[in-house]
Amino acid sequence: MDKHYTIEVVCLFCDSVLKVEEGKEYTSGDMIKCHECGEMNDFDSVLDIAKEKGVEMVKNEATKEIKAKLKNLFK
Ligand SMILES: [Zn+2]
Repeated sequence: MDKHYTIEVVCLFCDSVLKVEEGKEYTSGDMIKCHECGEMNDFDSVLDIAKEKGVEMVKNEATKEIKAKLKNLFK
């Protein structure tokens, strides 16, 4: 699979997309400040949610591809 999936991290409090600094590496225990509501988001929790969303995205993409293939098969 050569597709690139971007995973967005969202604020735990207001659901807006968190601006993660380019090139900055966040580690476990870090806090990311939300630019919208000013709340501090726990990096671990934010990442967990982002991962779940990423998995969903990949699953959806895979399902679409399989469906497209099946369609071609039964033409
Ligand atoms: Zn927020």
